[in-house]
Order: sequence, then C-alpha cells, then structure tokens
Amino acid sequence: MKTLLSALELTLGLSLIQLFVTLFPYLFLRKKQLSIIRKLLFFTFRDYLFATIYLFVFTYFAKLFEWFEGDWTIQNAPLFFIGLLIINGYFFIVHPFVLKYDKRRLTFSPEYSATLSENLQKKVSVYITNNDTINAFATGFLPQNRVIVMGRGLMEKLTQEEREAILYHEVGHHKHYDLIKFYFVVVLQFILFVCFRQPFFDLVHQFYPSFNDGNLVFWYGGLIGLVYAIIFSKISHYAEYRADQYGAQHTSNQAMGNALLKLSELTEHIVDQGSMTHPSIEKRLANIQFQVLPAPAS
Ligand SMILES: [Zn+2]
Repeated sequence: MKTLLSALELTLGLSLIQLFVTLFPYLFLRKKQLSIIRKLLFFTFRDYLFATIYLFVFTYFAKLFEWFEGDWTIQNAPLFFIGLLIINGYFFIVHPFVLKYDKRRLTFSPEYSATLSENLQKKVSVYITNNDTINAFATGFLPQNRVIVMGRGLMEKLTQEEREAILYHEVGHHKHYDLIKFYFVVVLQFILFVCFRQPFFDLVHQFYPSFNDGNLVFWYGGLIGLVYAIIFSKISHYAEYRADQYGAQHTSNQAMGNALLKLSELTEHIVDQGSMTHPSIEKRLANIQFQVLPAPAS
C-alpha cells in the first residue's frame, strides 16, 4: 500500500509539472485563440492520460522491486539508467508506435516516405493528419519508429515547395538527433525531481521546521518545472533554428520563410512571439536570411 501511494505521489507530481509547463503559456489566451490552439496541438488529453498511466505502472514496479533504492554505485549505475530510460520512455519510444497504428487520426503518405528513404538512406514514415491540424512534428528516434506528422490544415495552405520545406524541417530534427536530446532532458528532469527532493525538504525544514510537506511538494515541483523549462527551451530553440536551416537548404530560404509566414497567418499570429519550444517567427526568419519580397506591381 505504501509503495502504491508513493508511486502515485511521484507520478502525479511529475505529471503535474508536465501539465503545468505545457499549459501555462495558454492560460492567458482568449476563447477564440483557444480554438486555434486546439488545431495547433495535435496531442489530446488521451495521449497525456496514457502517458501518466504508463509512468505510474513503471514507477510502481520500480518501487516494488526497489530499483532505485540503495546507493548510487558504479555497478548499479547501468541498471539505474536503463530504469530511468524506460520510465520516461512513453512519448519517445511507445507513442510513435501508437501513432503508426492510429488510423483514426493519421493517414500514411507513401510518396513522402519513399522520397525520404531514397534521399536519406534512413527510414522515416510520414503521416498526414485526418483532421485540420495546422502543425507538423517529428517523433521517435529508433529506426522502426521514426515518424513525421504533417497537419492537413497546414499542408492545404502551402505550395508544393513550402510543404517540402516543412517536411525537411522535420527531417532536420531526425537528422540532428533532436528527439534523443529532448529525451535526455526529460530523464534529467526525473533525476532532479527524485534525487534532490529530500535534500531540498531537509534544507527548508532546517530554516522553517513547521513548513507543511504538502505545500513543499508544490513549491519543489514548481522549482523543478522552472529549471526544466529553461534548459528545455534553450535546447529546443537551437534545434528549431537548425531544422529551419535544414528545411531551407533542401528547398529554398524563400520557401521555408513563406511556410513560416503562412503558419503565422493560420494561427492568427499566436506563434509570432515564440514559446518555450519555438523562437519567435521574426527570429526564425532572420535565422534563414529571409527577405520579404515586395508585392508585384499591378
Ligand atoms: Zn521544429
């Protein structure tokens, strides 16, 4: 019972951090903007629910078999690390496979997948969303689960070359091993959350012995969330710049830039100022030396 509760506490703590970090920027948006956000975010509540259940099951087993008990030694370090990779692996290892069989949400694109396999000698499966998502993303890093998802709502508004610019932007994420980097940042967050909790509690109790433990978990979660957000944001912005450059190299700076401008228009400029994961559109355009061409004289 104690194991169950402590696994539940850990799972909820981590899920709340994730939820907070993900949703925080959207708390200040108006209703109309929220309907755009829904089209921008492909992931649904169900995806996060499965991720939480997965996290809970493995945390429970880890606790039950005392995976993370005892001291960190060189001998048990590999086991610790493999355990951490499994526990945090849902979105990086399991979910891409789920997407491959999700016929309700996605349709396989044989042409794009074949083009990429020929050009890259790397297997990447490309899917188009069945709904009008106005976004695209890359996920999975194993040869069997490298996936690119292209939103139908975005694709329909782009020219052939702009579509390819977006496609190659996502290929760039695979090419530069960005998914593995993100995976390790998530694992790092888990290590921070688990390993520094007791020292943090002890430190606070030293100065404020009566501080309520429940409140402390909340503050601790917020602190870790903040550290995580800062590190993740740095790595993610750098990855976006490089992916834009990759997209521009394989098409043209003009195509990549125009695709970004159309994304900005479709989202009614919500993406313009940037976010934790993406730099502002202005900086992204400057990064690929995009020139706004004057409108042709009529
Ligand atoms: Zn990207």
